[in-house]
Amino acid sequence: MTATEHAHAHGDEDLPPPSIEEVADGVYAYIQPDGTWFINNCGFVVGPDQTMVIDSTSTEARTRAMIEAIHGVSTQPIRTLVNTHHHADHTNGNYLFREATIVAHRECRTVMLAAGLSDYSATFPGVVWGDLEFRAPDITFDGGLDLHVGDLLVQLQDLGYVAHTEGDIVAWLPEHRVLFSGDLIFHGGTPFSLFGSVQGTIDAMNRLESFGADVLVPGHGPVAHGGAAIGAAINDQRDYLRFVQQGAANGIAAGRTPLEQAQAMDLGRFSEWSDAERLVGNLHVGYREAGANPAFDIGGAIMDMVTFNGGVPPRCVA
Ligand SMILES: [Zn+2]
Repeated sequence: MTATEHAHAHGDEDLPPPSIEEVADGVYAYIQPDGTWFINNCGFVVGPDQTMVIDSTSTEARTRAMIEAIHGVSTQPIRTLVNTHHHADHTNGNYLFREATIVAHRECRTVMLAAGLSDYSATFPGVVWGDLEFRAPDITFDGGLDLHVGDLLVQLQDLGYVAHTEGDIVAWLPEHRVLFSGDLIFHGGTPFSLFGSVQGTIDAMNRLESFGADVLVPGHGPVAHGGAAIGAAINDQRDYLRFVQQGAANGIAAGRTPLEQAQAMDLGRFSEWSDAERLVGNLHVGYREAGANPAFDIGGAIMDMVTFNGGVPPRCVA
């Protein structure tokens, strides 16, 4: 079994295989359909004597398949790996980039060290994670950090506030106007602010708009090309997050718990997005940010998501 076949061995559904899209000269998006739980996107930049990678993946098999695919494009050594944030689907495979220096936001490393390798077997049973080893970033920063891959400038920038997580960064390639947004954008999927801030993620949408990117590679979902498509993707996420805030306000006024409020809400057009149960987790944060959830607890919110999902774990085919 090849690494690629193994990557698809799990799950009832036969997902399309990951694909590589060259979004600018020497700049690639590694897209994993269908972008749901733990099925993230990565990127890589091939220079004259080295390759830089943006994010690893959730499992050993998926990360091995990605490295094999990158080597199919270029056999240059992978010297640098950037983590856009700490979440396991973007960092579990770090340890397989043994020769690379890993770069991330200071808070990303702090959270990773505090959590170690997380065990998701209760929430997401059946995933074949592989022989994961913990590996934290080697170099951290806040503000910004310029990386150079040959002549190509890759600007890493933080937000200065909590959004999807406490340590989100984006990678901006000004020469090609390509933006790797990490999980600030779930393109065609439900935003997830349980580990961060609903308001902060709304604020992040304004920041993403300010780049005026020609290509946006989201943390999950397909690449967006051109200002109109990128603007629509950003607006959709912002609209959803405001819908969460309004829902939280309504739920608080009605005396409902976040779970009860989620069950009372009509997702409307957002029901077409994957991972609808994230509404409950997002409402927990929305309540907290409205000052109404003093017992806020991530574990309890995840249990509420399972309840919202009919008592079964959220669909995860990693
Ligand atoms: Zn994430």
